[in-house]
Amino acid sequence: MAIIEDWQINDKIESCHGCATRFEDGSDIVSALFEQGEAFIRRDYCSACANPEQLGEAFSQWRAKLSVSKPVKTFVDNEVIFDFFERLQESPEPSKKDFHYVLALMLMRKRLLKFVSIEKDGDNAYMVLRSPRRDKTYRVLERRLSTPEMDALNDEVAKVFAIPAS
Ligand SMILES: [Zn+2]
Repeated sequence: MAIIEDWQINDKIESCHGCATRFEDGSDIVSALFEQGEAFIRRDYCSACANPEQLGEAFSQWRAKLSVSKPVKTFVDNEVIFDFFERLQESPEPSKKDFHYVLALMLMRKRLLKFVSIEKDGDNAYMVLRSPRRDKTYRVLERRLSTPEMDALNDEVAKVFAIPAS
């Protein structure tokens, strides 16, 4: 199963979504996630195109310096992923709940969320998780996902954050 531990830029970041300029080693870029139906897609922008007109609808965004010559561990930092997780907390769609659950597991592996308990609510079970750093508690619906479903979701997480699915 894909476990996302190390951040590395994959080779999918190529050019600006706004002006199609090709990125080079060392380019400052802004990446943003947009909702597209049930999924999220990532778009990358050069500094000039990263304006409110382009990014207004973005669900989440972050800045990075592109490095193709050496692996970068902090292309997407944990705060970005955490913010994304928090925003998904409010999404009612089932597909977003799956994503939310997978991100929760990832943040637990990174020790950014601590397991507190399981709460049962009818047929549903919620993981109660705590962020010591943000001093907040979260309830995450537990999803009953098969291994192929988990793999697919991990791949989607890897794709939107531009990190290898490993
Ligand atoms: Zn551009």
